[in-house]
Amino acid sequence: MTDPFMLAAIAQAKKSLAEGGIPIGSVLVIDGKIVGRGHNQRVQKGSCVLHAEMDCLENAGRLTAKDYQNAVLYSTLSPCDMCSGTVLLYGIPKVVVGENRTFQGPEDYVKSRGVQLIVQDNIECVQLMQDFIAAKPELWNEDIGE
Ligand SMILES: [Zn+2]
Repeated sequence: MTDPFMLAAIAQAKKSLAEGGIPIGSVLVIDGKIVGRGHNQRVQKGSCVLHAEMDCLENAGRLTAKDYQNAVLYSTLSPCDMCSGTVLLYGIPKVVVGENRTFQGPEDYVKSRGVQLIVQDNIECVQLMQDFIAAKPELWNEDIGE
């Protein structure tokens, strides 16, 4: 059974795909409630910084330090350097990752900074990325700075 919050992140990834974008989604959860949702906006907004996690945090708006300290960030894909840095900046204590087979961010470093990082190895997340990369490899390389 898939975690309902991961399902919400996957729904965001599918929304992005339907818009012609990169299928990565994210949600921010505080006290068991989703307070922000987002997906990669590279194509849709021509953005170089709105990865799914950044879009999600932006949509959650300005939160207090205490809110971030009680938050869990869900992402369908292992967060990159930028998104992991934002997790550390705001002191988000827990990150739940859909998969890290397609791409792995600085997970060991994030964990070394005291963040609990859980990888669910969700096959639907893997499949979304594999299908996308096979169809649009240039777009994916652009997103990870290659
Ligand atoms: Zn990122």
